[in-house]
Amino acid sequence: MSELLLEVNGLKKYFPITGGVFGKKQGEVKAVDDVSFYVKKGETLGIVGESGCGKSTTGRLLMRLIEASDGRIVFEDKEITRMSKTDLRKIRRDIQMVFQDPYASLNPRHSIEQILEEPLIVHGIGTKEERKKQVKEMLEVVGLSSYHAKRYPHQFSGGQRQRIGIAKALMTKPKLIIADEPVSALDVSIQAQVLNLMKDIQEEFQLTYIFIAHDLGVVRHISDRVGVMYLGRLIELAESEELYENPRHPYTKALLSAVPIPDPDLKKRTILIEGELPSPANPPSGCAFHTRCSQVMDICKTARPAEQNLNGHYVACHLYNK
Ligand code: SF4
Repeated sequence: MSELLLEVNGLKKYFPITGGVFGKKQGEVKAVDDVSFYVKKGETLGIVGESGCGKSTTGRLLMRLIEASDGRIVFEDKEITRMSKTDLRKIRRDIQMVFQDPYASLNPRHSIEQILEEPLIVHGIGTKEERKKQVKEMLEVVGLSSYHAKRYPHQFSGGQRQRIGIAKALMTKPKLIIADEPVSALDVSIQAQVLNLMKDIQEEFQLTYIFIAHDLGVVRHISDRVGVMYLGRLIELAESEELYENPRHPYTKALLSAVPIPDPDLKKRTILIEGELPSPANPPSGCAFHTRCSQVMDICKTARPAEQNLNGHYVACHLYNK
């Protein structure tokens, strides 16, 4: 196996639910509940699931934008979860994030030059002249032009703004980029362009990606491996081709059956997922998917399925219990 860049073990994030006059804790939302995975250098790991499944919270935990309730995150042999603020600042140079809504992460009062220069200033990289040169070069890398440096975010289209968001993430020459729904807000025609750009720069800058999306179709072509989350848990993870050709978990099968296929001659049966997504504040006992699963058994209602390793294809479902 190639070198590991990131290892996540037993990651949990529980948000307290408070209420009443005294704001007493009345329960908790298990947004991320015992999630483990690793990411190899140079690969793209896709993380997919419906909104509220914990995928974006996982991304924020990896950056330590929010603190984990439990678990370990190890990046290049350094444990992020216990790191001091000073060490964390240094490591943020190596881990950057691309957001769904670039407009929200680009200061509207700052020119593109100021926006792109900022991460370099924060990390004390280069002289003023070197920084300006790098801004111009980076704009070209992401398919914009150096003359765009003097413009402001509102003067760009959604697709161009996402290119600026990507350029901003690239400025510190990171090793890992966590992209949280980076193309979900874009038109389908623009999505492909931005995905292609991300693929191209991955090679050029030797990047590792964690690509978070709600749509299995979007992550298919960019991901080497894909993990599927449901109600805070990682329920299946496999090599991309294996997952799409041979999904094991009933939830993944249903999600995949809903992804449109480009060939009109190929027919497939859409598996409907019954019922609403349960509240993460009150997840079902046993297998969290049991209230919606067409293959539910008695054991599913009481016992949480352990993760099985089927030749590198991980699945948490009682159907595969040995
Ligand atoms: Fe369905 Fe049971 Fe598997 Fe959960 S553990 S997905 S309820 S078969």
